[in-house]
Amino acid sequence: MRTVSVKDVEDILAHLMEEAAYRLPSDYLEALAGALEREESPRGRRIISFLLENARLAEEEAIPTCQDTGMAIVFAELGQEVHLAGGYLKDAVDEAVRKAFRPLRKSVVADPLLRTNTGNNTPAILHVDIVPGDRLRLQVLLKGFGAELMSRLAMLPATAGAEGVKAFVLEAVEKAGPNACPPLIVGIGLGGSFDTVALLAKKALLRPLHTPQPKPHLAQLEKELLQAINDLGIGPQGLGGRITALAVHIESYPTHLAALPVAVNFNCSAPRRAEAVI
Ligand code: SF4
Repeated sequence: MRTVSVKDVEDILAHLMEEAAYRLPSDYLEALAGALEREESPRGRRIISFLLENARLAEEEAIPTCQDTGMAIVFAELGQEVHLAGGYLKDAVDEAVRKAFRPLRKSVVADPLLRTNTGNNTPAILHVDIVPGDRLRLQVLLKGFGAELMSRLAMLPATAGAEGVKAFVLEAVEKAGPNACPPLIVGIGLGGSFDTVALLAKKALLRPLHTPQPKPHLAQLEKELLQAINDLGIGPQGLGGRITALAVHIESYPTHLAALPVAVNFNCSAPRRAEAVI
């Protein structure tokens, strides 16, 4: 058994959240720079240049990459041989949010109907998977809700197949239009149950860009969807152009023979994520 201090977890998480708020991931910035070469619309190229400049300034001057600094979502893969000592994991996650969000916008309300701001951006959303081993992997997403608002879920009939999935995803992207702040990263969940499929779509956003999907039929579907999404002509920030999405990522899970669950979760042009392994 390996002991990990919960205080260390808190400090590392606060650091990851600060890093995510001010510095966009290098794989995303590389993809955005590549998109600048491929974008055919002058307005689209201008917007991509602004996004690259915005990311550079945010990092250099330690200012948030967007006014919506997001709700903190934490994925923890907890090795079965890890003993967390000195507190509770959820308390450490929320304390990290309190610290990291001190200078950032507070976007969380305590009750979905009463709408009182919690004043410190807590609580975070925490997903824990118990895995083999003696390590703790922490992945952080600071999720802007412009993109979150446009996310969709459907329990398609079992016979819908890949064509049904494509039609649903394309409709979701078209309906999102400029509101999810493209260029997008499109996370798609396939399979599982009603609850699982949304989580799969969110997990799909954690995969670094240019990392291949291991299942060939899903890799092919990702490729076809990316092409079809970019053929829609929505373009950067919805003002027309080739580059509506930089990547399509699919995560899947076995499902019941009666249904084909599908969920679409978008990441916007401020896709803030960071990770560490303890
Ligand atoms: S969707 Fe993303 S880029 Fe757009 S306002 Fe929200 S956080 Fe900012």
